[in-house]
Amino acid sequence: MRGITVPTVQAGHAIGVDLGGTKILAGIVARDGSVVRRTERATPQDSQEHVLAELEASVAELLDESVAAVGFGAPSPIDQENGIVVRCVNLPLENAPLRDRMRERFGIPVGLDNDANAAAIGEWRAGAGRGEDDLVMLTLGTGVGGGVISGGRPFRGRNGEGVELGHIVIVHEGRPCQGGCTGRGHLEAYVSGSAATAAARETFGPSADAHRLVRLANEGDAEAKKLLEEVGGYLGSAIGSFVNVFAPQLVVLGGGFGVAAFDYLRKPAEEVALREALEPMRSSVRLSKAELGTAAGFIGAAFVAFEALDNS
Ligand SMILES: [Zn+2]
Repeated sequence: MRGITVPTVQAGHAIGVDLGGTKILAGIVARDGSVVRRTERATPQDSQEHVLAELEASVAELLDESVAAVGFGAPSPIDQENGIVVRCVNLPLENAPLRDRMRERFGIPVGLDNDANAAAIGEWRAGAGRGEDDLVMLTLGTGVGGGVISGGRPFRGRNGEGVELGHIVIVHEGRPCQGGCTGRGHLEAYVSGSAATAAARETFGPSADAHRLVRLANEGDAEAKKLLEEVGGYLGSAIGSFVNVFAPQLVVLGGGFGVAAFDYLRKPAEEVALREALEPMRSSVRLSKAELGTAAGFIGAAFVAFEALDNS
């Protein structure tokens, strides 16, 4: 289709930016969810100002006359009213007035959302969840994020915070959570890429990590498969609860680790989830791998940008 479209210089695109624990992924995205151009940068770990400067640089690198709005997904609850990133668990970013700063810098509408909410929107509009009205997305990366589409709309909570599905308790008085989270037994402490890395190091030594764990499983290593199956079981406990709470048609598993390990996590996760979920939700829910891969976050952030543009 794009080949026969008469090229016009019009503001039909948005830039979506996905702020991750280790990478900033950004892209120019069209209304149909197709990606025109994309970039990747390392996420600074040292200071808030450095993180904000890199976010600006990601946008500046892509910005052209076709871009009408910019959207950000950040791994934090969001204060939608004031356009503020409240507090990232795994990054030095707290009370950051991202919307005002970016609007002043670039002079176009700015949308802001929780990163996993953005990923859920991306998969809903352009990926595994196309055509569904009710879905739950879990992103397993450095941390664990969650996004919910309910009744054909993103579910954002009272003030647009998004939902923190990674920080629900699956084990009472269990493992301490990560980063700045004071909780115990949270899902994130059991199924994130960081949790998989910790488990891999215990079994395979200090140089192992989540990537190596998946690689070993791919090579047929029984111990690696067993570790991933354990992770899948914990994941299933959480999915069963989410199915009981949100009654989705679809649960989408994304994030770097979630996608890489999907084939090993799926069976144990489904077994446990189906044990925990009640009818009629149990019979109607499916578990799918994210289709957009690690691009889901920035594609969804671009749809959040379109939302800001259409409401401006
Ligand atoms: Zn937590």
